[in-house]
Amino acid sequence: MAIVSCPQCNKQISDKAATCSHCDVELNKQTAESIASAGRVKRIEQAQSIQTQTFIALILFVGGFSLWYWQDTLDDQWYNTLGQGMIAVGFIWYLVNRIRLMVLKRQK
Ligand SMILES: [Zn+2]
Repeated sequence: MAIVSCPQCNKQISDKAATCSHCDVELNKQTAESIASAGRVKRIEQAQSIQTQTFIALILFVGGFSLWYWQDTLDDQWYNTLGQGMIAVGFIWYLVNRIRLMVLKRQK
């Protein structure tokens, strides 16, 4: 007999129980195995979401550099400020997402 978390109330219950003793949810369809695989799917989805955000952050960073570079010829202060802002936001966002991905991959 193993102890698992109830999928509904998250309290500790036996994996052999037919219903949760805390919230009475039906457990016969939610075996310990399907609860574990649901957790894996959720982590994969989180990792994909972080990777998408990392990509957007990179585009922002590169876009900011392009604006910053072009403002020399355009001689427009607004482009300069916008470019530097995009570089800063893109860079910080990229770092934050790399750290989030590292933390996520360390969880087992
Ligand atoms: Zn429960």
